[in-house]
Amino acid sequence: MNKIGVVGAGTMGVGVTADLVLHGYEVTLVDTSFTILENAKNEICEIVRFAPILIPGIRKMSEQETLKRITFTNQYEELANSEFVIENVTEDWKIKSEVYKKLDMVCQSHVCFGVNTSCISITKLGSLTSRPSQLIGMHFMNPVILKPCIEMIRGEHTSDTTTETALKLLEQMGKESIIVNDYAGFVSNRISHLFMNEAAWVVQDQMATPQQVDEIFKKCFGHKMGPLETADLIGLDTVMHSLDVLYDSYHDPKFRCAQLLRKMVDSGYCGKKSGKGFYNYNELTKKGS
Ligand code: NAD
Repeated sequence: MNKIGVVGAGTMGVGVTADLVLHGYEVTLVDTSFTILENAKNEICEIVRFAPILIPGIRKMSEQETLKRITFTNQYEELANSEFVIENVTEDWKIKSEVYKKLDMVCQSHVCFGVNTSCISITKLGSLTSRPSQLIGMHFMNPVILKPCIEMIRGEHTSDTTTETALKLLEQMGKESIIVNDYAGFVSNRISHLFMNEAAWVVQDQMATPQQVDEIFKKCFGHKMGPLETADLIGLDTVMHSLDVLYDSYHDPKFRCAQLLRKMVDSGYCGKKSGKGFYNYNELTKKGS
C-alpha cells in the first residue's frame, strides 16, 4: 500500500497524516472546510520539521516534499484511489455514521477502514457499511508521532485479512499494536476516562486545584502525566463526547460526565488545542485556570 486516505484533520488526523508522510506514504486528507485544512497544513509541516529532532532515525523532509505527498480536500470522491482509509472525525455517533456511509460509497470494495475512535463500538460502525469485516479499530495515541504503540480493536466481524493489513501498515509506521475485543471505550478509555472524569469532579468539588490533582498522580503514583493534563491534551470536548458515548453504551452512572467539564466545553475551553482548559496554554508558564 502506498496511498492512504485520512478523514478528519483535527488533532489526530494531523498527527496520523504527518506520521504516514514521514514513513513514505502519500495521503489524501479530507475535512469539511478549507480553513481547517489550511490550519492542518501548517501543523503537519511543523510536526514533520521537528520530527528528526524528536525521533531517532527519522529523516529530514523539506516542506515542499511534505506537501507534495498530501492532497488536501473537502471532496470524499478524492478517496477513490486510496488503498486504506484511517478515519479521525469528531467523536460523535451522528457525524461518524454519516462519514462511514459516504466512505462505503466512494471507496473501492476491497479497501479497509481503520477507525480512530476513543469509545465508539467498531461493530456498531461496521453495521452501517456493506463491509463490516473490513473495519478495524485503530486507537492511536496522542501525539501520534511520539507514541510507539496503539490499541487495535477487532469488531465482531473484523476478518483476519483486515487485521493483518492493519498490522502491516502500523508496522511500516514503526508502531506496535495491542489487539483487544470490541466493547465501547475498549480497554484504554473505559478505564482512563473514569480517572479524568473523577479528577474533574474533584476540582468541581473544590477539593484540590488541577495542579494538585495532577501532582498526586505524577509525584505519588509516578505517572508521566496527570489526568487533567491528559484531558487537556486529548481535548475536553473529545473527553466529554467519549464519556457520553460510554454512558449511552453501558447506562452506568459511573460514566456520567462532570458538570464542570461540560461547562468548560460550552465556554470554549477545550484544552490545549483551544489555548485554555484546566491549564492556560497562552502563557509561557502553565497556570491553573
Ligand atoms: P478534533 O475535534 O480535533 O478533530 C475532528 C475533525 O473532524 C475536525 O477537524 C472536524 O472538522 C472533522 N470533521 C467533522 N465532521 C467531518 C466530516 N463529516 N468529514 C470530515 N471531517 C469531519 O478531534 P480529534 O481529537 O482529532 O479526534 C478524532 C477522533 O480520534 C475522535 O473519534 C477521537 O475520539 C479519537 N481520538 C482522539 C484522541 C485525542 O487524544 N484527541 C486520541 C485517540 C483517539
